[in-house]
Amino acid sequence: MIAVIKNSATADQIEHLVDWLKEQSLDVHISKGADYTVLGLVGDTTKIDIDLLNNLAIVETAKRVSEPFKQCNRKFHPEDTVIDVGGVKVGGGNFCLIAGPCSIESEEQIIEVAKAVKKAGATMLRGGAFKPRTSPYDFQGLKADGLELLLEAKKVTGMPIVTEIMNPNHLPLFEEVDVIQVGARNMQNFELLKELGKTNKTILLKRGLANTIKEFLMSAEYIMSEGNSNIILCERGIRTYETYTRNTMDISAIPVLQELTHLPVIADPSHATGKSRLVLPMAMASAAAGADGLMIEVHNDPAKALCDGAQSLTPEEFAGVVNKVNDVRKVIL
Ligand code: PEP
Ligand code: MN
Repeated sequence: MIAVIKNSATADQIEHLVDWLKEQSLDVHISKGADYTVLGLVGDTTKIDIDLLNNLAIVETAKRVSEPFKQCNRKFHPEDTVIDVGGVKVGGGNFCLIAGPCSIESEEQIIEVAKAVKKAGATMLRGGAFKPRTSPYDFQGLKADGLELLLEAKKVTGMPIVTEIMNPNHLPLFEEVDVIQVGARNMQNFELLKELGKTNKTILLKRGLANTIKEFLMSAEYIMSEGNSNIILCERGIRTYETYTRNTMDISAIPVLQELTHLPVIADPSHATGKSRLVLPMAMASAAAGADGLMIEVHNDPAKALCDGAQSLTPEEFAGVVNKVNDVRKVIL
């Protein structure tokens, strides 16, 4: 349920109403916008008499939120959420560029790529240390050693880092990680989501291979229901009957998510297409569709990459994508 509060309401009046709602065993999320304040009510709202709320002098309107996702719903929080990742803002017009290799392979590799993507305009560095691979015989990442190397790259470049978690027991290793990624394969690993909800880390939640937008938002809701609202959603392509591309990039998910949720929405054209030459057009399309940022795989030697080389850009190619995406953003702003 939400209650939109009139502009004329005083802070005392709002506080009085909030106290009363809390006495009804509800959690109250206050969202102060430039034009109005919205109270988002979470819990068993069936006891609340909506007519009574609507008749209060300070209430402009009160209504039930029919969607099962509540806290991530834009109705709860009409303004875009802006997340601050070590000084890099994401959302609400702040565009982020996350770049780096699929997996961290060596000190030389991650430092070289980190410096190159920073120079090209990346605002955050990515690199997988714990890699979910379809085959158990494929390279699974350097694990804790990989994280150490990524932290070294963070120190050298000053860029915030993004890396994937697969097991909640590994959380202590992620202390100095700025953004914890939940990969597509774990989007509905509810125990993992709940544990991440108990932290105050920024979570980059990727859409599952075969998940609907509603399921995607319900996974964000799992994290938020435990108290963590620092979530960036990432469209990374879904599985369809098309096999020419690795996945089918659901560009329409970007404006749909922007409509349904206040959380920032970014796009990953690398995993969506699986082909490096398709990354530029899909990156531009994502920016044009209103994405709040991009995550792109970049490798210093894509042909020798231990993971996802076919979709990885060279640093030079990445610099070209950054320029074109900036051009697109100038046109749509
Ligand atoms: C990744 O970002 O390297 C990754 C494994 O992505 P996804 O979970 O989207 O497949
Ligand atoms: Mn990858």
